Amino acid sequence: MLSARGVGMRYAGGVDALRGVSLDIVEGELLAIVGPSGSGKSTLLNIMGTLDRPTSGTVLISGQDVAKLADRQLSALRGHWLGFVFQQFHLTDGLTAAENVATGLLYAGIPRKRRRPLALEALDRVGLAHRVNHRPAQLSGGERQRVAIARALVNSPALVLADEPTGALDTTNGYAVLQLLHQLNREGTTIAIITHDNEIAASLPRRVEIRDGRLVRDTAAAR
Ligand code: ADP
Repeated sequence: MLSARGVGMRYAGGVDALRGVSLDIVEGELLAIVGPSGSGKSTLLNIMGTLDRPTSGTVLISGQDVAKLADRQLSALRGHWLGFVFQQFHLTDGLTAAENVATGLLYAGIPRKRRRPLALEALDRVGLAHRVNHRPAQLSGGERQRVAIARALVNSPALVLADEPTGALDTTNGYAVLQLLHQLNREGTTIAIITHDNEIAASLPRRVEIRDGRLVRDTAAAR
């Protein structure tokens, strides 16, 4: 569903954050993109998520070369195909859990009336049916990340990209969020988790290792 071919990223100032990275993500996978800080993981995630355009190479999402799409088409593609989870949750303080999740449907062309029921369904999937009217400040860190995961899932994306999803959580909550991502994967969601944590990476079925902007190991390479 996603194919990166020889992707390079040179930032203004001449930093080569990625050098010729090639990677295929297949439907149903749960994989780690792992590497130390500064190795290029976030850059790769931004490019796979069509938030940034690479300076060389190509990215195909569902067979479409994203370089050929205008910004409006890209945000439509993002709205339909991709879900994002960030380390710092990125929830809106003034909105309830259900309202935060419903924002995940804003760019998907879902009529207003359908948004709340879909948001409630997504919150139920992440075990937060009892917290739908709470605001982020009334939720624990682990619960906030569950809301963010529900928002990423609400539009049934083909691929969820999670950037250090347990990075802001204590061990117990981090473990629970990881278990939730495993459960969602078993239920059919394709998930890529960016992490610098080797222990987290080791718990996932596939590991792609990045170092100094290069892909140095992919446990699925033999596939
Ligand atoms: P990671 O996510 O693995 O920590 P990043 O993708 O954030 O790595 O960064 C890879 C390299 O690119 C680092 O050397 C970083 O300093 C550099 N970099 C990241 N973003 C920018 C930017 N916007 N402009 C210039 N250099 C950047």
